[in-house]
Amino acid sequence: MRAFLLLMVLAAAAGAQTTREMNDLNWMEFQELVPGKVQTVLLPTGTVEAHGVINNGADNTAPLALARAMAPKLNALVAPLVAYGVTGSLDGYAGTFQISEAAYRAFLSDVLTGLARNGFRNIIVINGHGGPQTAILNDLAEKIGRERRVRIMVTNWWAICSDVTLKVFGEDGGHAGWNETAFIQAIDAKLVHAERYTKDLEMPRPAAGTWYAFPFPTPVILYQAGQGSVRFDQAKADAYFAAVATRMVEVVRTTITQWDRAGLFR
Ligand SMILES: [Zn+2]
Repeated sequence: MRAFLLLMVLAAAAGAQTTREMNDLNWMEFQELVPGKVQTVLLPTGTVEAHGVINNGADNTAPLALARAMAPKLNALVAPLVAYGVTGSLDGYAGTFQISEAAYRAFLSDVLTGLARNGFRNIIVINGHGGPQTAILNDLAEKIGRERRVRIMVTNWWAICSDVTLKVFGEDGGHAGWNETAFIQAIDAKLVHAERYTKDLEMPRPAAGTWYAFPFPTPVILYQAGQGSVRFDQAKADAYFAAVATRMVEVVRTTITQWDRAGLFR
């Protein structure tokens, strides 16, 4: 503790940044950083929905931890998490929430506008939940980007990293499948209740156009039949988190570099 305090004092004396969380900066610190020293912000977005034997907030836990891991490597701040979202077909499970698409669109529009008004040039959404939420975020990236002349990128980590999933686990994943469960296990193993897991929880995702059901009959939805069945392996979980974070930094860095190179919205 004393060593930690000493480090903090030394960091402050050197003028170094002690936090990358917008929640924890005061207005004077923020003014010193943005946009002079920091032009990039990571905005984690998620939802609250059932996830097999991991927490209902897994889609919040994942992008927040990911954004925190990515921020120092991108010289970015982490915006406060948007924790409620457009859940969709899993709304109906205990403890789940659904925000209407109209309300979500209006709210996120104002959040993105606020980040632009506060001086960020690169707004990177670290999205933790797919379906209609992704479509709304993509639309807003274009709308707010055009209106405010800021660069906005929407990322879906599980989709960007599908090849990382194949590499680490040797098979594809699923919603609350092995990959997503492992991602949470790497962040906080206490959120994983292996003792509650049974194979009965798993169903493969129906092929496009075959059937739809509301509520979806299980929260563990495998992208491909026979792959992504949940196992609990801490070493693989840790390797997966690290590999996903590395890949995400690469993808965002490449995009920012290309924006700069093209001279867009300078
Ligand atoms: Zn999820």
